[in-house]
Amino acid sequence: MSGFSYIPDEDEVKREKNNARALRASQWWKRKCAKGRCYYCNKAVPAKELTMDHIVPIAKGGKSTKSNVVPCCKTCNTEKKSHLLMDWQPGSDEKNTD
Ligand SMILES: [Zn+2]
Repeated sequence: MSGFSYIPDEDEVKREKNNARALRASQWWKRKCAKGRCYYCNKAVPAKELTMDHIVPIAKGGKSTKSNVVPCCKTCNTEKKSHLLMDWQPGSDEKNTD
């Protein structure tokens, strides 16, 4: 499991972004958002304010798969991005109880 330092090339990033767009249009995603919960803070968030977040970002080799995208609120999305610049640990997302 040392694939996290992998940097995708431009074509792969483009492909995953397209896949993300397709996922976002899917019934699966709409059902997830309809629950109205942020994956990270577990707050109730109106479906239309949920954003799609990649647990492992595309830029770090993450894929647009159902197991790697989660609905989250704008606050968490922004916060996660700033964590990423420092020391966000991909793969440590499962028990993040801090
Ligand atoms: Zn949140």
